[in-house]
Amino acid sequence: MSGDDDAHAQSIRIRGVVQGVGFRPFVFRIAHAHGIRGWVLNDTDGVRIHAEGEAAALAAFGRDLANSAPPAARIDSLGIEPAVVGGHASFLIAASENGASPTAGISPDLSVCNECIAELNDPADRRAGYAYINCTNCGPRYSIILALPYDRPRTTMAAWQMCSRCEAEYVDPANRRFHAQPNACPRCGPRYTLYQSATGSISDDGAAIIDAAGLLRDGRIVAIKGIGGYHLACSADRADAVAALRERKFRKEQPFAVMVRNVDVARGVIELSAGAETLLASSARPIVVAPRRVVLNGVAPDTSELGVMLPYTPLHHML
Ligand SMILES: [Zn+2]
Ligand SMILES: [Zn+2]
Repeated sequence: MSGDDDAHAQSIRIRGVVQGVGFRPFVFRIAHAHGIRGWVLNDTDGVRIHAEGEAAALAAFGRDLANSAPPAARIDSLGIEPAVVGGHASFLIAASENGASPTAGISPDLSVCNECIAELNDPADRRAGYAYINCTNCGPRYSIILALPYDRPRTTMAAWQMCSRCEAEYVDPANRRFHAQPNACPRCGPRYTLYQSATGSISDDGAAIIDAAGLLRDGRIVAIKGIGGYHLACSADRADAVAALRERKFRKEQPFAVMVRNVDVARGVIELSAGAETLLASSARPIVVAPRRVVLNGVAPDTSELGVMLPYTPLHHML
């Protein structure tokens, strides 16, 4: 019971990369699991928690906090101090607080997660084929954050108002989009468009993907807007397209990186050590350079190595 003799209170300060990584929803869930009352909030220095409960519950809560944080979080410090029991009746996510000079780490953009890819490819899902699909564990962060603390009104997503179904997901602690700031769907979120300079034709959404894939197959160059900027892309096995891209980018000999569908395909293209494979599949989605196993004309001339990366946005996966 709140306010009884057994209740203790703690003030907890967590610093590191703890915003934009599903940290508040995580704290909310473990607080409920341990019967902890109080609140969690983002401020410009990270995450602050006021926790009340019995000593054993608080200890278990603290252990989970330190050991079970979301995969994209990085805790630099976790400070716990005794606090005054306020007699809170429940645990909630409180409004963020603005400070003068932010010190909180900003999460990098997170590559699309497997659950979102499954929904993307499920024709029955309301986000089937929707390039801006994301959740509490994945999606753009750094590229959309305009200011800290991290909340939708301080992101580039502020321009889109969540529809009732997205809003329902956002406020439901059991939902995997609980507090996902960029949450969106085809009804309420951003759309995408393909513009063809040769014909002046414009296609939207699903048609844009099909048209863009067709252009790539036909050896054309497509500028693909990713999370943080544009890629100039062409089919790597079309030597004519690679040569044209080289011409336009004024890159005579520098190697181009190749995006492959998955790790299996990557294994066929380059000599992939176990360490390189882990790196390739890590959520930062780096370009991994390794000895090549195939020759792609013009892609990486004058070297026996090839740079390979995996898709990291829903749009890449669909293409
Ligand atoms: Zn996701
Ligand atoms: Zn929506």
